[in-house]
Amino acid sequence: MTYQADEKGYYGEFGGAYIPEMLYPNVEELKQQYIQIMQEESFQKEFKDLLKDYVGRPTPLYFASRLSEKYNTKIYLKREDLCHTGAHKVNNTIGQILMAKRLGKNRIIAETGAGQHGVATATVCALMGIECIVYMGEIDIDRQAPNVARMKLLGATVIPAKSGSRTLKDATNEAIRDWINHPVNTHYIIGSVVGPHPYPDMVARFQSVISEEIKSQLLEKEGREAPDYVVACVGGGSNAAGIYYHYLDNPDVGIIAVEAAGKGVLSGESAATSALGKEGIIHGSKTLLMQTQDGQITEPYSISAGLDYPGIGPMHANLYRTGRAEFISITDEDAMKAGQELARLEGIIPAIETSHALAIFEDRKFKKDDIVVLNLSGRGDKDLSTYIDYFNL
Ligand SMILES: *Cc1c(COP(=O)(O)O)cnc(C)c1O
Repeated sequence: MTYQADEKGYYGEFGGAYIPEMLYPNVEELKQQYIQIMQEESFQKEFKDLLKDYVGRPTPLYFASRLSEKYNTKIYLKREDLCHTGAHKVNNTIGQILMAKRLGKNRIIAETGAGQHGVATATVCALMGIECIVYMGEIDIDRQAPNVARMKLLGATVIPAKSGSRTLKDATNEAIRDWINHPVNTHYIIGSVVGPHPYPDMVARFQSVISEEIKSQLLEKEGREAPDYVVACVGGGSNAAGIYYHYLDNPDVGIIAVEAAGKGVLSGESAATSALGKEGIIHGSKTLLMQTQDGQITEPYSISAGLDYPGIGPMHANLYRTGRAEFISITDEDAMKAGQELARLEGIIPAIETSHALAIFEDRKFKKDDIVVLNLSGRGDKDLSTYIDYFNL
């Protein structure tokens, strides 16, 4: 039994590539080549060198002693917040820009909601001197002005999506339309383990550097490669896929996925996709997504922009369906408290996405000797105004 994707990009019953016929040549080209390209020695060398010297890897595996003491278990934090640009997302955009170059593409498109993936994409395009176009909902452009400014400063063109609800899903539609119109020279950088095959598998492989590093870091600190649990927040699921990757098929490692309950799972304002989702197709793959009786995608809500996504990647839908992972949903309120607690106990201000993962320790108890590794997916600088408003700072 494996929890990895099969050749057609299925994780159990989820995944695949459900795309308009016009997009078939683009996706097929990538599908035929991605594994071979990733395995080339020159690709591996360039990827590893950039992760080391540009991103700042390996990121530390930090034993959080005061947090551990408070919750009476051993908590390690994988410090993805220390990556260049402040989160794990850049691991994937570095990988994909190298992939695009190998495929002979000289134009990059991306979609972004909160702007974090847009910034990570604009960053690697600047690094490589490649044209970058980011689609972003008009409403998100207003809400996320600092990230829009970052992208522009990095030389990207930000195009507002003005249709529908003028948010992430509309930006995605615009990006897909662009890709259909520019099949030869353009690569579409998707920001999480979502989208048609091969994206979920490709992005998971790029992010798998996270658990690759943990294996040797934990061996050095604890004398074993595998912890008792790995924990991550799940928006689309890329930081989670990265920390789970090398432990997926090891039944001794418990997998914990944390979703955003917003104002409460049953409040009507939530992003708890696994609890509320039903099977459906979003962004080209079959997965669990939040939808109405007649299949219209519901607008998700979370205080954290990065978890505010109506679906989850097919890997995670399968981990949920098979019971391999334990899913926990955390409200805005509990996440904010956990973020403040980490700041005060460890001197680390986390991204609010990450704060959701940190909040599980209040209710989910572990044994004293358990080793729990939590993915500290990003730093809280981008969320300062939300923290200020919430705590009246
Ligand atoms: C984007 C983001 C997430 C959510 O995305 P995943 O693909 O689920 O990892 C989580 N944490 C941070 C800091 C982010 O920027």
